[in-house]
Parts: sequence; structure tokens; C-alpha cells
Amino acid sequence: MVIYDLTCDNSHSFEGWFSGPENYQEQLSQNRIECPVCGSTAITKLLHACAVHMKKEEAPVPRARRPTPAMPGPEQLREALIRVHHYVQNNFEDVGAHFAEEARRIHEGEIDERPIHGTATAEEREALDDDSIPYMTLPKPELDS
Ligand SMILES: [Zn+2]
Repeated sequence: MVIYDLTCDNSHSFEGWFSGPENYQEQLSQNRIECPVCGSTAITKLLHACAVHMKKEEAPVPRARRPTPAMPGPEQLREALIRVHHYVQNNFEDVGAHFAEEARRIHEGEIDERPIHGTATAEEREALDDDSIPYMTLPKPELDS
């Protein structure tokens, strides 16, 4: 099972559940994915993004040297990813498709700093990169596929 954040050509965003990435591709190519709001079948997949804005004076402290941990297996990675998602969901404000706009306003000091998460298109992420606005993209954990 995979969950994707999807958006239509009218910028409605919604979640799609598929049995696997191939299933998503197949449904997409047959125009079987419809926007629940307007019924459009011009669907694109969004990457999930989250940002914790860091002030310049709060530059991260270099971490103490630790022995390199063993490479985690796929199960451990998936669990870690699910934990991260829960953490983000509980502690970050969901701004949905307004992610890029909100991250920019926080960066420019227009609104108070707060942890946010949401979705961003490839173009929006490029624009954030161009302006050196910090954010992270998070892959959604793949549930049993
Ligand atoms: Zn729509």
C-alpha cells in the first residue's frame, strides 16, 4: 500500500491510496484518478515537505562524534519513517498546498515562526531552493505493498 499526496490542475490536493506505485501509474495512465472536488483527471503527485525554520543565530551545533551506526534494514527504515510522520503530524501545523507560501512568509519574517508541513510542487520547491529557504522533503512511508 502506498499513499500519495495528489493535486489536480485546479490545485485541489487530496490523498490517493494505491496497492503499489505501479497501480498508481496504471490508474493515472487510464485517467481513473479523479479529483474528489472537481472531477479533473489531470493529476500530479506531490512530494511531502516539512520545514522547521531556523534563525541564523541558531545555527545547528556540530554533533558530538559518535561511532557510525550499522546501516538500518528496510524494516527499521520504514518504522523510523512512520515515527517521523507521526511526529510531524502531531507537532507541525498542516498547511496543505500552501506549504511553499507559508515557508516563504515565515522565512521573510512576515508571520511568526512555527513548524509546518504540507505539500509542494516541483516548481515551488525549486523556487524555495533558489531563495535558500530551508525545508525538507519526506517520503511517505510505504505500508505493506
Ligand atoms: Zn480539483
